[in-house]
Amino acid sequence: MDTRIYQFENKASYSRGRMNNEEALFHWQNTPFYDLASAADQFKKVKFPEKQVSYTMFRIINYTDVCDIECNFCSFMKSVESKKGYVLTIDQILEKTNEAWQKDYRQIFFQGGVNPQIPFDYYLNALNSMKTKFPGIHIRAFSPVEIREFSKLTQRSIENVLTDLRQAGLDSFPGAGAEILSSRMRNILSGKKTTPQEWYDIMAAALHLGLKASTNIVWGSVETAEEIIEHLSMIRKLQDETKNILSFVPWTFQQQTKGFKVRHVPSHEYLKMISLSRLYLDNIDHIEVSLLVKGKQVGELALYSGADDINSPVYEENVLRSYGLSNEQECIEFIKEAGFEPKRRSFNFVYGEKS
Ligand code: SF4
Repeated sequence: MDTRIYQFENKASYSRGRMNNEEALFHWQNTPFYDLASAADQFKKVKFPEKQVSYTMFRIINYTDVCDIECNFCSFMKSVESKKGYVLTIDQILEKTNEAWQKDYRQIFFQGGVNPQIPFDYYLNALNSMKTKFPGIHIRAFSPVEIREFSKLTQRSIENVLTDLRQAGLDSFPGAGAEILSSRMRNILSGKKTTPQEWYDIMAAALHLGLKASTNIVWGSVETAEEIIEHLSMIRKLQDETKNILSFVPWTFQQQTKGFKVRHVPSHEYLKMISLSRLYLDNIDHIEVSLLVKGKQVGELALYSGADDINSPVYEENVLRSYGLSNEQECIEFIKEAGFEPKRRSFNFVYGEKS
């Protein structure tokens, strides 16, 4: 193993050279988490010399729980045939947006199942209505699999669909639905979802159009170490090509159904992922720690392992079991108690601005 880039024998030493895939795999499998954390913390301090940690506040609006993609880890979806699902009306969406606005949440994460019964106009109308009534709101919406279905539904190109949505009010695009970008894992988890290449191409189309995005990894099932590095490699390549990815968020699978295997991801492995992300994804500025899945204590350590942002107070979380922060004050206290200066940010990581 060539350790010329990261000399962990000397923990104070790291280089700004790019970690290659072989090295990333070696470190994931062999390097103790505390050595990676030390290197990642130093690397973070080069990018962010001030001792600050940022947060934003957003509300999730799940406009429908009807979905025909059938990911086997998802307990949220209802099949079309079951007739048990819901679709929010535009009025209900506006009511939820208003509740968020009144509580000073300025960002809406608008996402739902892939519901073949909803016409494309519904989405345009929803975005338009939210923007008209709340011009200051930031709408982060949809995911590659939804965009693929809109494209099929309207017989329009991915670029045209994204442009329509953008004109209606879409501000940014979450890189959701990636989980682990390997064909083998895709077939195990969600055979009907976008293939890794489809996910990549739709993300690239959105990012090339100028939409900013966050990205993530979800692991803790039967993925291999090689597949984890393959995933990180696709994310880094996407950013090399587009430059519009703002952040990367490591998540772990939650046991929502009995349909697939979830293994316990120990805290040191979660922290190792935070550190490896910081070091390997050298072209993505912000690494977010998700308090939703790992809680405050691991979250504190993540801020010393390469993370510079917390995955924020979230209003209404239908999909995941939550260890999150329930309001801004709690968020500010958490960051201060961890030893950092809290900075509220916009989605675009403009500090001091709300969205
Ligand atoms: S994760 Fe999303 S795409 Fe998959 S079944 Fe659930 S709602 Fe549908």
